[in-house]
Amino acid sequence: MAADCIFCKIASGALPAMVVFEDADAMAFLDIAPLAPGHTLLIPKKHYRRITDMTAPTVSALSAHLPRLAAAVVSETNASGLNILQNNGEVSGQSVDHVHFHLIPRTEGDGLGYRWNAGRYASGQAEALLTRIRTALS
Ligand code: 5GP
Ligand code: ZN
Repeated sequence: MAADCIFCKIASGALPAMVVFEDADAMAFLDIAPLAPGHTLLIPKKHYRRITDMTAPTVSALSAHLPRLAAAVVSETNASGLNILQNNGEVSGQSVDHVHFHLIPRTEGDGLGYRWNAGRYASGQAEALLTRIRTALS
């Protein structure tokens, strides 16, 4: 547990939350400031700041809850779609430094939108990045 981490406090029960699911390692609860009704957060109970701080098995165990959780959130909000979002770092929009997945139910005309400005690679840039990322993974 990290001192002063809101989600650690929720995970330990020190702070209240509207918990929809819990097991030994994970918890899901309603976001306090929902982008849409039913906006749910899935967290590991253990404190990790970024997904890159987690091991593959811990990410697997956490994300394994997503299909069932997503289905319940979608069906009970009558949503016609769902965004699953996981931010890492302040620049990405992460405001709570404890790994979490957002499940955001979507309905026609909800006004949330979803449009990021797609870019283009400069000549040779994609190939250079491809080589670098492939090498980093090898
Ligand atoms: P982030 O911006 O880090 O990806 O998302 C953090 C989310 O946590 C936000 O959507 C915010 O509304 C939610 N949040 C922040 N503090 C609390 C809290 O004390 N309780 C609950 N349930 N959600 C919180
Ligand atoms: Zn934490």
